[in-house]
Amino acid sequence: MLDITAALKAPGTSIPFEHMEELPPVQTLGEEVTFPKPARVKGEFTLMDDALVIDAALTATAVATCARCLETVEYPVKAKIYETFLRADPRDTAEEDPWEERLVFTGHRVDISHLVMSLAVLDLPIRFLCAKDCAGITLESDDSANEEETLDEHPFGALKQLFTKFQEE
Ligand SMILES: [Zn+2]
Repeated sequence: MLDITAALKAPGTSIPFEHMEELPPVQTLGEEVTFPKPARVKGEFTLMDDALVIDAALTATAVATCARCLETVEYPVKAKIYETFLRADPRDTAEEDPWEERLVFTGHRVDISHLVMSLAVLDLPIRFLCAKDCAGITLESDDSANEEETLDEHPFGALKQLFTKFQEE
């Protein structure tokens, strides 16, 4: 929750702020991505009538595994936040649509956790690599070479057995 008391006291003034937000782990394409440290949101917010404008930069560190060698990869998340939250009447009991992202606030606190999480996830790469030229696990390529040999020998071995069996009969 972002405390905007300063903006409420001085409408129309840009208030610098720095906020830390814990981000839960997320699954992307079956990969688990974690954020061990809270994300940092740094910038300014301004109250204009019933709208709070947040203009800030989001930085975080995402931790996942390399798609090729399974090493731990740290990815620096960087995103720009420029959003307007509208003041909502706390007595307003209109039913909330959970699928609709409503950027609203009541009182002196703004819940920016969903927004921060969405922006962090959008900034993640499709797959994580420890290095652009990661060669993957070398052991794995040796194994597949051995498998190919075994497969090559196998049909002939079976044929030979069959042939021997016919000769015996
Ligand atoms: Zn790798």
